[in-house]
Amino acid sequence: MAESRSFQLNCACGHEFETILWDSINVTENKGLKSQLLNGEINIIQCPKCKKKSYIEKELLYHDMDLKLWIRMYPQMDRPKWPSLEDEMGQKLQQKLKLDAYAFRMVFGRDELVEKVRIFDSGLDDRVIELLKLRVVQEDESLKDAHDVRIAFSRYIPEDAEIQLHVYSQQNNVSQTVIVSFDHYVEIEESQEHLAAPKDESQKICHGSYVNLSKSRILH
Ligand SMILES: [Zn+2]
Repeated sequence: MAESRSFQLNCACGHEFETILWDSINVTENKGLKSQLLNGEINIIQCPKCKKKSYIEKELLYHDMDLKLWIRMYPQMDRPKWPSLEDEMGQKLQQKLKLDAYAFRMVFGRDELVEKVRIFDSGLDDRVIELLKLRVVQEDESLKDAHDVRIAFSRYIPEDAEIQLHVYSQQNNVSQTVIVSFDHYVEIEESQEHLAAPKDESQKICHGSYVNLSKSRILH
């Protein structure tokens, strides 16, 4: 079920107004909300007086009943709190064992949410994707010393057996698309590295509900 609530907001122009913001969206019941999310239109508000549009980043629950996918998005600024939020979510999930077949994920900010949605929509395993990203970063000389590297899944092209990733680093002045052969994905998947018990930094990435490369100290 999709849920929204009324909020009281203060615009920078001084006008105070009431608006509706989404708390949760069910994209199986309402496909329109999904396109809104992908187009960056969810929780965009407009001041009725000065007409200024702004994005309100708040917690949002994403539910896809067909893919059995449930993602809790926290504001991007909460990312440093991931260890405690992940623990909290793990405890809540243990009480919901009947939802076993579901994938539960947490993300920070809408870019991470949209990325997860794209990965699952492509029928890929996000844990394998994060390990693939790790390989790309480790093998790229130009990125090794950068402390602000961000790498995101862009798309999977089955016809060409290619996965496209986007790499950004302001420090190294990099913003480029990296094309990775799908063979690398298959190789990681078959080795089951993403399912192994977390013995080192890199394997922690795939455990818990925050499946993200930034959990590793390799990226800062
Ligand atoms: Zn205003």
